[in-house]
Amino acid sequence: MLLLSPHPDDIAWSLGGTVARLRETGTELVCLTFFNRTRYAPGSPAHGDSDAVTRVRRAEEDRWGALTGVRLERCELADASLRGYDDDTEMGAEPEPEVVAEAAARLSSALLRLRPDAVLAPLAVGGHIDHSAVRRAVSGPLPVPEDGLLWYEDLPYAFGADGAPEGHPLVVGIASHETDRDDGVRCYPSQLPDEVLPVLRAHAARVRGERLWAGTPAARDRFGRGLGRVVGGGSA
Ligand SMILES: [Zn+2]
Repeated sequence: MLLLSPHPDDIAWSLGGTVARLRETGTELVCLTFFNRTRYAPGSPAHGDSDAVTRVRRAEEDRWGALTGVRLERCELADASLRGYDDDTEMGAEPEPEVVAEAAARLSSALLRLRPDAVLAPLAVGGHIDHSAVRRAVSGPLPVPEDGLLWYEDLPYAFGADGAPEGHPLVVGIASHETDRDDGVRCYPSQLPDEVLPVLRAHAARVRGERLWAGTPAARDRFGRGLGRVVGGGSA
């Protein structure tokens, strides 16, 4: 299974409990991170220095990969902080066509090489420009299997967001895996985990887990059955 992560921490934030459950099933997980080059690290003294911050965040992601057993692949694209955006302007902006094209090319290459049976992609809830770029890349003419594509709610942005996306929701229960999620989030001290964790917990309490959206009932049911093999009862 291929997990698409706009930034190094997005899967830990948004799918930390789901990843722990998938690992229990023995599912092989690869995380493809798109925007690895960055100057954004408010919890690190390196904040603002792109070379140093990129190294810090790479080390954090490596720690998360070792902890969770997820194999990491990186696209090495420059994130919004290196393309002239700040905390305000990066939210809701239209992604640059050349950035979407770059992301799509990296994704296409990974799909052809890895041939995943399923892909988890960001919905871009909240409209962060880098998340929107990945969403657009996934929506293009790519060899993504329709019954294996699910979208995840981007956290922390999805907490309190208005409206629901189109599709068929699947709530993954994570009550027994919150410690795994928390341990994963704490792999990223440069991203202020103590500020993020309460939001993740509040969202999980509100939706009763981590919520995915499938384009078809078949895709939703297939993913749910994969998790159900471990917990029994077919419940996801
Ligand atoms: Zn992100």
